[in-house]
Amino acid sequence: MTYGIVNKIIPFSAVDGPGNRTVVFLQSCNFQCLNCHNPETISFCSHCGICIDFCNSDALKIIDNVVIWNKNNCTSCDECIKNCPTNSSPKTTQFSVDELLNKIEKYSVFTSGITISGGECTVQSDFLLEFLKKAKQKGISAFIDSNLHVETEKLKELANYFDKAMPDVKSYNLEKHKLLTGQSSNLVLKNLNFLLKSDKVFEIRTVIIPNILNNEETISEVSKIIAIHNPKLRYKLIKYRKTGVKTPDFANEPSDELMQKLKIIAQNNGCENILIV
Ligand code: SF4
Ligand code: SF4
Repeated sequence: MTYGIVNKIIPFSAVDGPGNRTVVFLQSCNFQCLNCHNPETISFCSHCGICIDFCNSDALKIIDNVVIWNKNNCTSCDECIKNCPTNSSPKTTQFSVDELLNKIEKYSVFTSGITISGGECTVQSDFLLEFLKKAKQKGISAFIDSNLHVETEKLKELANYFDKAMPDVKSYNLEKHKLLTGQSSNLVLKNLNFLLKSDKVFEIRTVIIPNILNNEETISEVSKIIAIHNPKLRYKLIKYRKTGVKTPDFANEPSDELMQKLKIIAQNNGCENILIV
């Protein structure tokens, strides 16, 4: 049986795809973004047990070399995360596909579907594939939120079972992408083209980070790609915000003037649906 490691589930969200959706955050990411707001979702827990001594609420135990988190005792002080040597979290839960679907189905009368996010959801691609297959069988609308740094053949397989993706394009420029994330943008752009051609994109997102990224180049190139495939597709330009970032001063927050300037660049390239958030 395939199991997934889940960092968190938000039963109802209005900002993760169309309508009111249940969002599942899978643990682990293949990027190391400088602007990551949830760095504890990047690494899998190695069950070393170091964090147990920092928990004053008896919420962590090690049983058979596995750290077990007791949600009911947890006060969310995050001392375990702060003291983890690998920046991970013991506050994850292992689910089988059926266990996760059963949990989500409790909310389904109030929601329009589910969104699988992360971390990076495609890191756990075997679990994700099985989950998406069963969700589709049950008629549940499933979106994925992805950085698209996944083997194209794997993404094609996944795309048979999800409705739409909400990809991040962090930087068009290969070197700047590597500087921000630790990985190049080649695979991301290749996969973006595949998804656009397959009409599998709900919206594209780019975080604007002044001084670090070539924001104008990224917005210009991505908006041209959007205009070719579907000018009405939403392009979300997201302001970098320092709050919650581990080393927040690595960059400045963008000004409203810069955001407007980028919006105009995208509009001039034929992109009709641009949202600044
Ligand atoms: S969260 Fe970190 S410190 Fe705690 S068991 Fe996992 S790897 Fe070790
Ligand atoms: S966040 Fe929860 S598990 Fe972690 S140290 Fe605090 S009480 Fe313990």
